[in-house]
Order: sequence, then structure tokens, then C-alpha cells
Amino acid sequence: MRTILPPIAVIGAGFSGTMAALHLSRLMPERPVLLCEKSGAFARGLAYATGCTDHLLNVRASNMSAFPDRPDHFSRWLEECPLDRAAWTRSTPAGLFAARGLYGRYLTDLLLAALSEPGPASHLMLENDEVVDLAPAEDGFDLTLAAGRRRRVAGAILACGNLRAPRGPRSRYAVDPWDDAPLDDLRPDLPLLIVGTGLTMVDAVAALRQRRFAGPILAVSRHGLLPHVHDATVPWPAPAIPAAARPSLLALLRVLRDETRRAAVAGVDWRSVVDSLRGDSIALWRGLPLAEQRRFLRHVRAFWDVHRHRMAPPAAAIVERERAGGGLTVMRARLIAIDDQAGYARVTLRERGAAATRIVDVQRIIDASGVGRVAETDDLLLRRLMSRGLIRPDALGLGLAVTDDLALVDQRGEANRPLWTLGPLLRGTLWECTAVPDIRGQAVELARTVADRLRDVATGMGGETA
Ligand SMILES: Cc1cc2nc3c(=O)[nH]c(=O)nc-3n(C[C@H](O)[C@H](O)[C@H](O)COP(=O)(O)OP(=O)(O)OC[C@H]3O[C@@H](n4cnc5c(N)ncnc54)[C@H](O)[C@@H]3O)c2cc1C
Repeated sequence: MRTILPPIAVIGAGFSGTMAALHLSRLMPERPVLLCEKSGAFARGLAYATGCTDHLLNVRASNMSAFPDRPDHFSRWLEECPLDRAAWTRSTPAGLFAARGLYGRYLTDLLLAALSEPGPASHLMLENDEVVDLAPAEDGFDLTLAAGRRRRVAGAILACGNLRAPRGPRSRYAVDPWDDAPLDDLRPDLPLLIVGTGLTMVDAVAALRQRRFAGPILAVSRHGLLPHVHDATVPWPAPAIPAAARPSLLALLRVLRDETRRAAVAGVDWRSVVDSLRGDSIALWRGLPLAEQRRFLRHVRAFWDVHRHRMAPPAAAIVERERAGGGLTVMRARLIAIDDQAGYARVTLRERGAAATRIVDVQRIIDASGVGRVAETDDLLLRRLMSRGLIRPDALGLGLAVTDDLALVDQRGEANRPLWTLGPLLRGTLWECTAVPDIRGQAVELARTVADRLRDVATGMGGETA
């Protein structure tokens, strides 16, 4: 008679959940892994589900391996990939950039390979439904799916990823940037408004033009800043940051500015300096007192983001071409009001520094202003877990409060339950946790922690028998 242990649930099958599940299924041959995904597609997530070939990775292909210990894994996969390379990849002086949809295929291949492996990985099970609740049970949780079914699980990893921004523009012409359907019947004569001028705006412009929308596009944000473009970089040693500078945002910015000047004297671009901070960035963030982290979010974040998260050169070329040709106008402005009319929305904008407002009639409003905060999320599962007292937002309200080994902290400040997270839900705690190079190592380490903890629990526990 074989003992069947209850599975560990991984909730969300984007990059974070898929990789955590793959590592777990290999580390824990004795226990099934239940990977749950509410969208139709596993191993894609928000970032890699796009079919638009102009939606490129904003990280070079050479740094997109899913495995921290096999840095050339994605590059090798690309070499062997039978797809039309000219359509799905762009070779630039700054490096090779692949389409995000192709990266989704890479992750899908990893998942399919694991599912078809004989042995331990066959413990990996897929559940295509939304997890809407986790209720504490004696030996784990009762997991409830949207369809109403329940399953007993030994523990869970929340890999729910980037939260949708809760309050988009209130208008019947408002469009989610990830939803193509409302963009089917666009008129060429009326502008389309994009709120936000970051990478999501760049994506939206590329997708609109690939769909042959020829009308004018207006993009607005408080600072009107566009992401910088990738260029060739050289390795630059991370600056030695004195302990006295670490708790002060101003002191850190001074170090960065000085280092950038030093690099410029040596003929090295600022990008190399920004990239050199990667290994230290989590420690730098955690070393800042809460008030300084808040100051960063208020005053520095918009500037940091455009330097840190850069566009692939072909994406930048689309933006440049559009701006030069008058197809895209970028404004430093705030959206003040929307007045829905028959067939269009009348929007009121206030340009930065201007007293007067400006009225523009637009046919759609795409909200590309950013991702949501846990503190204000309307995500059903997170709201329920918060109301059960099982989780709580981090001190900034951006993500979830966790311990050093990514166990979720409950309302009483304890982290005793078998409940963990990884990826973008760690934004407040780690800050740098949203890109593949940040998450791939996290997935390995978390899988080890979870496997160890569940193995300890299993010792002496019965489970079901078959
Ligand atoms: C548009 C975009 C482009 C990006 N481009 C890059 C890039 O080029 N390079 C890079 O390194 N990073 C990029 N990123 C960062 C990206 O966030 C990470 O690379 C990574 O994909 C995050 O994966 P995730 O699994 O944590 O989150 P997500 O991709 O958001 O996936 C979370 C998944 O969980 C599912 N889910 C959520 N709640 C539930 C529930 N209750 N039940 C079941 N399923 C649920 C969702 O449907 C989703 O599939 C990009 C992000 C975005 C949004």
C-alpha cells in the first residue's frame, strides 16, 4: 500500500509559479505538486502570453535563462527553436532580444518536458481554475476553486504575480492594456489616450500599430518620462557603498551620481553603473528606513524605473518613429476628468505647471499607469486571506509581508503556517523582484525551503492511502 501525501499548491502559473512548481516536483518526489492557473494558459503569466511579435523582452536573451545555474539555457533553446527567428527575435548592437511570446513558449516547453518526465516530475498536476480561498485545516489548508470544488493541500505558495491596478479611469471607453478585444473597432480619425508613459505604453503603441490602427495616440503621465533604451554595456564593478550612506536615499543617489561620473571619465556609459548595482540592490533597499523607502517611491521611483527597466532598441525605434511622424504625442499631464459622450470620451488634462486645463476627445482610454498594490487590491483570494488574518500587506502596502525565507506573515506578526510567496508580491520587501533574473534564484531557494519544511511535517504524518 502506497501513502499519498496531500499536495503542495502553487497558485499562479506565470514564471514564478511555474518555476517554483518545477523545482518542487523534482525536490519532493514523495509529494504531489498542484499548479493552479486561472487563465487559459499555463507557463505564460501576464508578461509572456502576448502574440505580438513587437512585444519584446526588455532583458537581453542572454540574461533570460530560467535557471540561475545554467545561464545560457534560454540562448541554447533559442538556437534550437524551429520558429522563424527573423520574426520572433531582433539582433541589435545592444544584444539579442526575443519576443515575449517566444519566451512563453520556452517556459511552456519546460513545463511540458517536466510533465512528460518519468518519475518524480509526474507528481506535477495542473488545475485550470482560479483559487478563491484557503481555509486553515489541521494539516494544511482547504483550497477552494472558483468552480466550487475543494481540495486539501499541505501548504501553498502564492505566485499570483502582478496585481491589476484597482482604479482605472471610470469610463465605458476605458480599456485594460492586456485586453485586445475592445480595440477591434477603432476609428482612424479620433485620438486614443494612453495613461502612463512606461513600458506598458510602449507595448500598447506597438500592438496598436501592428493591428493597423493609424490614428493619433496621446500618452500622458505626471513626468512624461519614457524608458531609456538598452545600449551595449561593459561589466563595471559595483561601487563600494560606505555603511554610513546606506540608510540615506540622498547619500545613495550621491554615490550613484559620482560613480556615473567616474564611469563616464573612463568612457563607460551610465547603464553599466546602473546594472552593476543589481547584486546589491535588495540589500540597499532593505537597508533604507521606511521613511526613506517612502521618499524613494514618491520622488525617485519614476526616474529610477526609466533608467533601470529599459526598452529593447527595436521598441525604442517604434516610439521614435511614431513621435517623429506625429503619430504619438507624449505629454507631462494629469488626467483630471472623463466625461463619456456618445461614441467617445471627453477628457480633461492638466499639463504640468499649467493653470489651465485642456479638453481632448478620445475614442478609448488605455490605463497603462502601473500595477496594483496589495493594500488596495480587489483580488478575491488575497482579500479573503487578509480577512482570515492569514496574510498582511508589507509596511508600504505594495506587496505581502514575509520572513527572510519568504513565509507569509499573518496579522499577528507570526509565520507558522505552510504559506509562502515569491515574485512581484515581494515588491515592498525586496523591491527588485519583478524580473526573471530576480525571480529564478528565488524559485530555487523557495522550493528548497518548502521541501524541507513539508518533509519535516510529513515525518510522522499518515496521509491518505491508495
Ligand atoms: C507586460 C510585462 C512585460 C514584462 N517583460 C519582462 C521582460 O522582458 N523580462 C523580465 O525579466 N521580466 C519582465 N516582466 C516582469 C514579469 O513580471 C516577470 O518576468 C515574471 O513574468 C513574473 O511572473 P509571475 O509568475 O510572478 O507573475 P505573472 O506573470 O503576473 O503570473 C501570475 C499568474 O498567476 C495567475 N493567478 C493569479 N491569481 C490566481 C489565482 N487566485 N488562482 C489561479 N491563478 C492565479 C495569473 O493568471 C497569472 O497567470 C514583464 C512584466 C509585464 C507585466
